[in-house]
Amino acid sequence: MSSLPGVGPRVAEKLAARGLSTLQDLWLLLPRQYEDRTRIAPIRGLQPGVAAQVEGTVEAVERGFRYRPLLRVAIGDGSQATLVLRFFHFRAAQVAQFAPGARVRCYGTPRAGQHGLEMVHPSYRVLAADEAVLGDRLDPVYPAVDGVGPASLRRLIGAALDRLPDDAALELLPHATLADLRLPSLREALLTVHRPPRDADVAALLAGTHPAQRRLALEELLAHHLSLRRQRIALQRHAAPPLAPAGVLVGRLRAALPFALTGAQERVFAQVRRDLAQPHPMLRLVQGDVGSGKTVVAALAALLTVEAGRQAALMAPTELLAEQHLANLRGWLEPLGVRVAWLAGKVTGKARAAVLAQVASGAAQVVVGTHALMQEGVAFHGLALAIVDEQHRFGVHQRLALRDKGAVLHPTQKDRRAKVPHQLVLTATPIPRTLAMAAYADLDVSALDELPPGRTPVQTVALSAERRPELVERIRAACAQGRQAYWVCTLIDDSDEEAGASGQGGSGAGGRGRIEAQAAQTTFEALSAALPELRIGLVHGRMKSAQKQATMCAFKEGALDLLVATTVIEVGVDVANASLMIVENAERLGLAQLHQLRGRVGRGSTASSCVLLYQPPLSALARQRLETLRETSDGFVIAEKDLALRGPGELLGTRQTGLATFRLADLARDADLLPQVHALGERLLAQSPQVAERLVARWIGGAARYAAA
Ligand code: ADP
Ligand code: MG
Repeated sequence: MSSLPGVGPRVAEKLAARGLSTLQDLWLLLPRQYEDRTRIAPIRGLQPGVAAQVEGTVEAVERGFRYRPLLRVAIGDGSQATLVLRFFHFRAAQVAQFAPGARVRCYGTPRAGQHGLEMVHPSYRVLAADEAVLGDRLDPVYPAVDGVGPASLRRLIGAALDRLPDDAALELLPHATLADLRLPSLREALLTVHRPPRDADVAALLAGTHPAQRRLALEELLAHHLSLRRQRIALQRHAAPPLAPAGVLVGRLRAALPFALTGAQERVFAQVRRDLAQPHPMLRLVQGDVGSGKTVVAALAALLTVEAGRQAALMAPTELLAEQHLANLRGWLEPLGVRVAWLAGKVTGKARAAVLAQVASGAAQVVVGTHALMQEGVAFHGLALAIVDEQHRFGVHQRLALRDKGAVLHPTQKDRRAKVPHQLVLTATPIPRTLAMAAYADLDVSALDELPPGRTPVQTVALSAERRPELVERIRAACAQGRQAYWVCTLIDDSDEEAGASGQGGSGAGGRGRIEAQAAQTTFEALSAALPELRIGLVHGRMKSAQKQATMCAFKEGALDLLVATTVIEVGVDVANASLMIVENAERLGLAQLHQLRGRVGRGSTASSCVLLYQPPLSALARQRLETLRETSDGFVIAEKDLALRGPGELLGTRQTGLATFRLADLARDADLLPQVHALGERLLAQSPQVAERLVARWIGGAARYAAA
């Protein structure tokens, strides 16, 4: 790297801070997008938000100071339309350039201004009298690197590309595969994306579907897949206690349950049972829609563990959820003589010491709790099965951490030191199959894709926010009949849109949490005034956890009729008597999140309804989302649709997965490559592990360091 012209210690440091320390890192710093300067667009045809190059004659110049210096230049072209160029910082020489009549060519993204369209700080050039030549290729736009300007970066990448080795040294993928898929070599692909040739398919490059981009996406997806697979293989080298009891306790629980297992529960439990009998650790993710009955599958797995003489633990992300599990497991397991212990943050002092002693001695056979289970000072007694509920809230990185922790937490008896527990992960957020393959290549995935019989589907309607007053009456009527209702407030402020779009979990993002909390407070006050006869509670992410818990519990116990809440209630709360939900600003939420919210009602036998309130006008995308929800309540169908509409980064929650650290691949766009990635990955691991190693190092080494920073 330091051999490149222009890379002194200062620049090298800036690059390194961004994870760029080798020539290879620069080759793989791929353009985020391209600017098309090969054409001139007529000003009349410009669209807000769509970048374009235009050329025109300066018609008027205005220099002013409103709050800050301002330069406005109006240019017009043959299409009889005017565009305003707006600058906030500029030098006197620049002003002089824009003499009326001068010809200007500029590139930028127009937006609606006070007087028609304008471009703020476009890149521009004043043309000489007879100058007409246009660029003949797309200009790559690179991700910004702090402290290295775009022009320097482009030059550096150019210099690095000049040292790109030949195919023999660079290529890691089998020729036959590339030929089959009609994809170019890595060298050719890199040169094409960095320096699109004159005759390149511009539309494909802009869309990210050019064969050169597909080729790079294939390799990147493969590298990620291999990295997850390697983690899995490493874990599978560990031993785990094989749990293969006769199943007496399982039989007794089945006989005691007031229902028969669904076909899906039978199938998934059989898979789990097979896994547990193995002498290496199970790593299974059970995806099942809200209400699909994951808990009983977990309970059966715990019973196998107990019958084999070992200990099982079940961890949930919130106390409320953990308490629900505790109640279920106690109800099911204690009549069978199984001892269930409870460990959460609020278990303190003597009670805590007593629980810890039971856990450590093995007197507690099943331990239920929150993150508290993972804390120091908690010693298990031959923990053989770790069950984690609502995995989506934890995310891949945390899952890996939990796994490591599980291994550390394992008892210290010398003969068992090398063993790690089996792991069963439950999630209520279904992920499309294709995506699951990419996101969870380190797990086996089972689907509980069938709901227990007798559920009345939630009737879903979308209404314009103007009809809010009617809803107040509807709540009054429902609560008068002893039903309970949720009123969910979501983000309403435009300025926060970005945080809202990316924050799946939502309540964490600072500004958004605050605005949501305010909205909930206001709504709470308005509804309290309109419905004085009702007992109304309020929960939002800004409240103390104890206060939140208390309100939730009151609602659960029926001491409240109406719960005004932010999206904090999204996860796992089970109040069977709640049969009406109203979601405000539903157009702002993603499909997966709306589906999760809606899953809070329809848990009992009463017919439930969900009203999605929206602010008109609806965008086409929002309309599709609301329609999807009206049409189906199948989480898997919704997840597929969500993937198609929004893309995987948002679907999975950017931060949570690490998937968004892809340089170029896009799981929605490139999903069709995944089966190939899968097959190729297995082959490489079996036949050429050192090639697999190099692929992972090439694509993930630097990026992983960067992502972790
Ligand atoms: P989730 O998958 O959302 O965690 P739960 O495990 O909480 O779902 O189950 C939802 C409800 O359905 C619980 O009341 C549970 O007892 C009940 N249930 C689970 N399995 C069945 C079944 N096979 N038939 C009828 N009810 C069931
Ligand atoms: Mg559950």
